[in-house]
Amino acid sequence: NRPAQLQRAFIQTGHGDARQTIRVMQWNVLAQALGEGMDSFVQCPMDALNWAERKYLILQEILTYKPDIICLQEVDHYFDMFQPVLASLGYQSSFCPKPWSPCLDVENNNGPDGCALFFNHKRFQSLNTTHLRLSAMMLKTNQVAIIAALRCRATERAFCVTVTHLKARSGWEVLRSAQGSDLLRNLRNVAQRIETEEKTDTDVPLIVCGDFNAEPSEDVYRNFATSSLGLDSAYKHLSTDGKTEPPYTTWKIRPSGESCHTLDYVWYSHRAFDVNAVLDFPTAEQIGPNRLPSYNYPSDHLSLVCDFSFKDPALVSQ
Ligand code: NDP
Ligand code: CA
Repeated sequence: NRPAQLQRAFIQTGHGDARQTIRVMQWNVLAQALGEGMDSFVQCPMDALNWAERKYLILQEILTYKPDIICLQEVDHYFDMFQPVLASLGYQSSFCPKPWSPCLDVENNNGPDGCALFFNHKRFQSLNTTHLRLSAMMLKTNQVAIIAALRCRATERAFCVTVTHLKARSGWEVLRSAQGSDLLRNLRNVAQRIETEEKTDTDVPLIVCGDFNAEPSEDVYRNFATSSLGLDSAYKHLSTDGKTEPPYTTWKIRPSGESCHTLDYVWYSHRAFDVNAVLDFPTAEQIGPNRLPSYNYPSDHLSLVCDFSFKDPALVSQ
């Protein structure tokens, strides 16, 4: 009795060049150790969290959409699952564990969780990979990011992709904002370095995927939306007015009650990229009364999948 996959469709959002789209996935996959040992998803049967089966649902989600770039948080099975399996499918990757992963406090854990970034090696060449431990108020924090500079082999264009997972829970809004500012600072530095190496005057395009653990009302969201880097949030294209984030990206039931929030984002340089399509979200009915994770979906966070295309360079420089 295989559980049915949640049916989701791509919504076309623009008129970009569909021949060379870059499909990007952002997904907090739910660390195995946290799901089983820390999270208290009270409506999710323990059976549905069994790694031997759950790992196939995670792979199914990835392989259904075949992203060119995959940005994951809460990866605590990189070396024994994600890296070898995705390498056999043509992905090159990088993993940055959290310095003090809460997974390590769980009995029979599989090591620390962290951020992982995968890209289709046929389409992209790696120029540089930076692992960051995010700072806040000059102090090192427990949160990390990976910035990968890639070159698109077909167009020869260089761009940067970033994955991050900011500090969770309410009460930590100021810390999250500081972590976001540190990431923006580092993005500016890496971008500048690539521009020097590439001997170009145009800004290197950026894509930033993350579980920001912040609603759109938080400072860290505002700082990204208004930064000098010219970033916009891709999933706003799913809304009818084009200006509103989705109503949820994570939906679970804990002992304290239902927790339905928009925390995950895909930011992109709006001067350089068009958003051609975004994968819509399952409805409340599809997700079901017990919410996530479930027999049908392996994480409490939904995947965000978007198709980008480079804008015409002649238009970008204007
Ligand atoms: P965060 O607050 O960022 O959360 C860590 C994880 O817990 C996230 O993946 C988050 O998931 C999940 N989470 C969020 N809310 C809840 C909840 N209500 N119940 C259960 N899980 C939740 O943690 P930090 O990175 O700051 O790490 C804190 C932990 O790290 C400590 O609890 C400790 O275990 C460990 N630590 C150990 C140290 C040591 O000296 N040994 C030092 C520092 C930390 P999501 O993002 O999906 O919400
Ligand atoms: Ca989590």
